[in-house]
Amino acid sequence: MLEECKSIDQKPLKLLEIPEPVPVRNEIRIKIKACGVCHTDLHTVEGELPLPKMPIVPGHEIVGIVDELGEECHRYKKGERVGVAWLYSSCGLCKFCKMGLENLCENAKFTGFHVNGGYEEYMIVREDYAYPIPDNFSDENAAPLLCAGIIGYRSFRLSNIKPGQKLGLFGFGASAHIVIQIANVLGCDVYVFTRSEKHREHARKLGAKWVGDARDICPEKLDSAIIFAPAGWIVREALKSLDRAGILVINAIHMSSIPELSYNLLWHERKIMSVANVTREDAEQFLKIAGRIPIETEVRLFKLEDANVALELMKKSEIEGAAVLRIE
Ligand SMILES: [Zn+2]
Ligand SMILES: [Zn+2]
Repeated sequence: MLEECKSIDQKPLKLLEIPEPVPVRNEIRIKIKACGVCHTDLHTVEGELPLPKMPIVPGHEIVGIVDELGEECHRYKKGERVGVAWLYSSCGLCKFCKMGLENLCENAKFTGFHVNGGYEEYMIVREDYAYPIPDNFSDENAAPLLCAGIIGYRSFRLSNIKPGQKLGLFGFGASAHIVIQIANVLGCDVYVFTRSEKHREHARKLGAKWVGDARDICPEKLDSAIIFAPAGWIVREALKSLDRAGILVINAIHMSSIPELSYNLLWHERKIMSVANVTREDAEQFLKIAGRIPIETEVRLFKLEDANVALELMKKSEIEGAAVLRIE
């Protein structure tokens, strides 16, 4: 539970007894088994993102078992395993919801931000915002799919990359290492741009066709590219390797300023776009694909009471793969 935002080294999260939430109509209660630790949680805890609710329980990569049903719940039975992601609810009424863009809903609520999330033992959610988890994942390995995985999948979809085309990935962390596994299945050639030798090695192992630095010009023109690193200067570098009509997708909640661009880099109908949040359709499609491939995730486990430690290590980039809280 977070009662006051502070730098993570001051251990802002406290372990408290809170009453078990009771599901009302259309809501299910979930006994949480695992919750992934995401950079957004760090922004929340340290107060970089202004919080609409306080105190709050962070966490939005949640895997657990349905243990109580509110009235008129038909989708799941008690004992079934489900996941909850960042999108906690959308209004269904605003113009974006009506356009099928509930990720841009003006009244959206987010898990661990407007309502208590997964750094705890129980949570409630509307049954139509919980997703079945494919059987071939453990609770811990499924958790990172629910944020890094789904948002990576949305970026991949919006990049409009087609089988056999060339895709660039700038940065190679939690999201990118999932995206490359989807691209491989489609027969795309993937070009990875990252400084970290550890990440380069990981990219090669996962089948990257070429690995280099973000300032390198790619040996082949890219049909699409996705930027995962929150550094604005990469936008200009990425455009240099993008082919005519190419799409550049930015997968980052925050990004430093984008430097001045020569119009020549955008000429020939190149496009730049951001990705914000996810829809339920993204989540459901992605989880099915993840189960079929099956996507491999690398995780390091922590106890719930060590959530501060997990966040601090993540801040210092000392965790390989994704940090996950195991909730007993
Ligand atoms: Zn996240
Ligand atoms: Zn809406």
